[in-house]
Amino acid sequence: MESESSQISLKICRHCSVASRTDAASCPSCGKPYERRIWRWWFAIPIVVLAFGIGYFGISRLIDDDNPAGVTAEEAAAVTPGISRPDLEDQLGEAPQYERKRGNGEGAPSCAYYGISDEPDAAWEFCFQDDKLITSHQVGGQAAGAVPTPP
Ligand SMILES: [Zn+2]
Repeated sequence: MESESSQISLKICRHCSVASRTDAASCPSCGKPYERRIWRWWFAIPIVVLAFGIGYFGISRLIDDDNPAGVTAEEAAAVTPGISRPDLEDQLGEAPQYERKRGNGEGAPSCAYYGISDEPDAAWEFCFQDDKLITSHQVGGQAAGAVPTPP
C-alpha cells in the first residue's frame, strides 16, 4: 500500500477553508466531512434497483424455476439402490439439503436428505452403507401412505 502524496488530491474544506492533502473523508482541521453532498438522492437508485432486481429474480426463481431446490418424488423414487453417493448426486443433479449419520461407529450408515419440491413437508431419505445406497424412501409429508399420489 504505497501512496504518493501527489496522488492524494488537495481538498479544500467547505467548512473551515483549510486545504489539506488527505485521503480522509473528513477534514483534519475541523473534523467535518468533505463531501456531505456526495449522498445525493439518486445515489440510492442503483441500490434500490439492485434490491428490487434481487428480490424479483429471487422470487421468480422460486416460482417458476424448472429446477427448484430439492427433487420431485418421482426423481427420488427413480433412484436405484446400490448406487454410490456421488452417483446419487449425479443423478439428482444437486447436493442433499441435509446429511446425518445413523448411529455411531465407522460402519454406521449415513443418510442424505433431499427436500421434495412438490411436497414441502416431505423429504427423501437415502441411506448409504459402504458407499452403496441401501435404503431410499420418503419421510414426512404423505409418506404414511394415506393418500397415494397419482402418477
Ligand atoms: Zn475543515
